[in-house]
Amino acid sequence: MKLQEQRPRKTFAQHWLKSEKALDAIVRAAQLQPGDRVLEIGPGTGILTRRLLRGVQSLVAVEIDRDLCDRLTKELGRDSKFLLLQGDFLSLDVPSLLQPFPGFQGLHKVVANIPYNITGPILEKLLGTIANPNPEPYDLLVLLVQKEVAERLVAKPGSRTFGALSVRVQYLANCELICTVPAGAFYPPPKVDSAVVRLVPRPTEPPALDTRKLEILIKLGFGAKRKMLRNNLLSFVERDRLTQLLEKLEINPQVRAEDLSVGQWVALANELGVKSQE
Ligand code: SAH
Repeated sequence: MKLQEQRPRKTFAQHWLKSEKALDAIVRAAQLQPGDRVLEIGPGTGILTRRLLRGVQSLVAVEIDRDLCDRLTKELGRDSKFLLLQGDFLSLDVPSLLQPFPGFQGLHKVVANIPYNITGPILEKLLGTIANPNPEPYDLLVLLVQKEVAERLVAKPGSRTFGALSVRVQYLANCELICTVPAGAFYPPPKVDSAVVRLVPRPTEPPALDTRKLEILIKLGFGAKRKMLRNNLLSFVERDRLTQLLEKLEINPQVRAEDLSVGQWVALANELGVKSQE
C-alpha cells in the first residue's frame, strides 16, 4: 500500500515518516540486540515497526487509530514477535494489559516516532517526574520529536534553550541529540523540523533530598523569563536567605534560572531543606 492511500488524520498528529535515512538513524540509535523487548508508541502504517521487528525479540506497539490497527493486524498480526494494543497510550496501563502475554513483558526500550501534540505527557509517562520517577525505568528511549523540543531536552545550562523541561528531564536521564530530520522527511510534512533524541534514564547523584521541593523550585524559578532567580523565588524563600545560600554554593546571587546546572538546582533545593541556623 502506498503512503498516500492511508489518509493521515490531523487529530492524531499523523505524519508518516518516509526517509530511509531517518529510519536508519533511529534504528542505529536504538542499539538493538536480539534479546530486546521494545515498546513503540504510534506505529502508524508500520514503517518503523517493520524495521524494528527485524532486530528484536519482541515488540509491543500502541496505536490509537482503529483503522490503522486493522491494517497493522492484517500485515503483521501473524508475526509471533509482534503484539499490538489499540488505545490511547496516555491512558493505557501497558504492564497490566501484558499480563496474559508473558513473552511480551519486561519491555526495556522505547523506540518511536511519537505524536508531537502529546510529547510532554508521553515523556512524563515514560520517565515519570522528579518526585515520582518511573519505578521501573527503561534502559533507553529513542524518540523522534519536534526539533525545538529536542533542543530543550539536550540544552546545556546558560544556553537560550535551557529551561524547566531541560532540568526536569535531565534530572532523570542523559539526553543526547542524534540527528535532525527535516519536515520533508514526512508525509504530510509537519510545520516544524524534527530531531531524533536518545534518553538514557539514570539516577541523579547526589539526589534531591526533597524532590517535591525541587519541583516547586524549578517551577517558580523558571516562572518569569529572563528575571533573576532570586526575584522569581520571592514567594518561596526570603531574598537575603537565598542570597546567602547562593553565596555558600558559590553561585553568583544575580544568576538567572537558565544559568543553573541540574547539580546546582539539586544543591540549592537540598540547602533550602536545611533549617537556617540563625
Ligand atoms: N510511527 C509512524 C507514525 C507516526 S505519526 C511513522 O513514523 O510513520 C504518530 C502516530 O501516533 C500515528 O499513527 C497516530 O495515530 C498515533 N497516535 C496519536 N496519538 C496517540 C495516542 N494517544 N496513543 C497511541 N498512538 C497515538
